[in-house]
Amino acid sequence: MKKFKAESQRLLELMINSIYTNKEIFLRELISNASDALDKLHFISLTDSGAARDFEIKIELDEKARTIAVIDNGIGMDAKELEENLGTIANSGTFKFKAENKTDEELIGQFGVGFYASFMVADKVEVVSKKYGSIEAWKWESSGSDGYNISPSEREECGTTVLLHLKPDTEDDHTDEYLSEWRISELVKKYSDYIRYPITMVCTSERKKEGTEEYEEIKEKRTLNSRLPIWKRNKNEIKKEDYLAFYRGKYFDMTDPLYYFSASTEGALTYNALIYVPGKAPYDYYTADYKRGLSLYANGVLIMEKCEDLLPDYFGFLRGVVDSADLSLNISREMLQKDRQLKALAAGINKRVISEFTKLMTSDRETYEKLFNEYGASIKFGVYESFGAKKDELKDIILFRSSAGEKLTSLKEYVSRMKEDQKEIFYASGRTVEAIERMPQVEGAKAKGLEVLYLTDQIDEFVMKVLGEYDGKKISPVAVASEEVKNDDYKDMLAFMTETLDGKVKDVRLNADIGGYPSCLTTEGELSLEMERILNSMPANKGIKATRILEINPDHALIKKAKELFVSDKDALKDLTEILHGEALLLAGLELGDSADFVLKLNELLK
Ligand code: ADP
Ligand code: MG
Repeated sequence: MKKFKAESQRLLELMINSIYTNKEIFLRELISNASDALDKLHFISLTDSGAARDFEIKIELDEKARTIAVIDNGIGMDAKELEENLGTIANSGTFKFKAENKTDEELIGQFGVGFYASFMVADKVEVVSKKYGSIEAWKWESSGSDGYNISPSEREECGTTVLLHLKPDTEDDHTDEYLSEWRISELVKKYSDYIRYPITMVCTSERKKEGTEEYEEIKEKRTLNSRLPIWKRNKNEIKKEDYLAFYRGKYFDMTDPLYYFSASTEGALTYNALIYVPGKAPYDYYTADYKRGLSLYANGVLIMEKCEDLLPDYFGFLRGVVDSADLSLNISREMLQKDRQLKALAAGINKRVISEFTKLMTSDRETYEKLFNEYGASIKFGVYESFGAKKDELKDIILFRSSAGEKLTSLKEYVSRMKEDQKEIFYASGRTVEAIERMPQVEGAKAKGLEVLYLTDQIDEFVMKVLGEYDGKKISPVAVASEEVKNDDYKDMLAFMTETLDGKVKDVRLNADIGGYPSCLTTEGELSLEMERILNSMPANKGIKATRILEINPDHALIKKAKELFVSDKDALKDLTEILHGEALLLAGLELGDSADFVLKLNELLK
């Protein structure tokens, strides 16, 4: 008996003692090896007609003997190859199990471990193989980590038969399931549905005997896989209905997707992707429970049902599949490559999604606005997160409400409408569009013919801060204190009012551009009133305060009255100042504090 190489031995022991719950992937591994062997012979057949045949992968179950066989008529192996390929882990120099600080179990699940996965379910494995062009057949067999034997054998056609003797069925290790036709069919569908060669099995079914009440058992060969995935089919042959049917079948979602597109190869990596925007965000989308990701296939073989690494968080609402021929299935082959390849794939997909959305914005604005209403918060979060690293990529696919009308607008569109002498992009934030429209500052800006973006999402104002500017135009809140009006006539009165409101506002200033209102609240510095409200609503933050400024409109009758009172009755001016402040609070949607006092003072004024 020959000994396994040290590293192979380690892997083998890991397989034998595996407590990994997805032992079922052994079948995927054997089928993909068979498919590789068929590929190789198929390639030869292009120049050597003797190699041509009906390429096929057969599965045979034997309940009595408790065996399962995976048989191919591919290229086969001679004695030397059996030795080299199955006695060592596929020529890998070093086997870096813990290389990526993932556990062994995770590695098995994500990338498979090739042929040795058989030992998770079998206690003895026999491989009979005959190489194409050779007259001898050879048998490799092993009952575990002790070692293996290679001996002459018999096989009619070229190809390979892998025969697994299943481990005994125990309470924690149900190997019996792999003797069930139904279960095997299910596994082929799950992992190997898109292998391009037919995977066949003789299946048993019952049928009523004609003219009697008796049933008879019939056995017939069936092809278990559907072979050609929709994303690899010729685009011109696929109808919208096919795409929708695939979506419904895969995601059990009865709401049609809002949008979908297929993409292939960009840059150095070859891949096919089919990506859907679900009609409705899943109920848990904005929670930590939501699991994002695209299904990752390597040449038609499922590697991971939800591969998170393929999508940035902000596109986490997308569903779909990515199939790349450049990903190796087996971890034994340069595990370290994995991350680089995945990253390149993810970058390609991210770029493609952005360009699809950009196109959609002009080609079908209605659909894009629906999409944005559903997922805009997520995309805007992408601008905000990681300190704006992605802002340049995403800034053109985000939309806002604005004073220009009902429709959403992009920053680019806003800029195209800017007045010739307008240097800044203005926004105002509040809880609803209606509330923003009533803000004195907004009315003032509108009266001057300036467009104002309406920010109603919690995240919006943070996004604007991260963006800072667009196309060289500064993005500024319309609410920020305007230039102090230099007017000595008012200086002393403003100082008196500031003192009256000590602790409530930092300053009282003049501003004639606040619509028809006598007063309004605004802020100085980074924090706005809306941000103050949002930040304070988060559990970790308490007592965050924006620097408040009370602006008063010198053109308003009440301010004219204030000026008179400053000379004639300072006590009455104190009360009026409180009222002006109270009104400004109400306009900003804030609480009055002492509302009884406000009402008393207001009544006094009305008398
Ligand atoms: P990988 O498929 O990643 O190379 P495996 O452990 O799955 O690693 O297989 C090891 C090697 O054994 C393969 O590279 C191949 O050369 C050989 N092999 C396995 N199964 C077959 C088969 N059915 N026909 C021909 N060669 C095979
Ligand atoms: Mg393999």
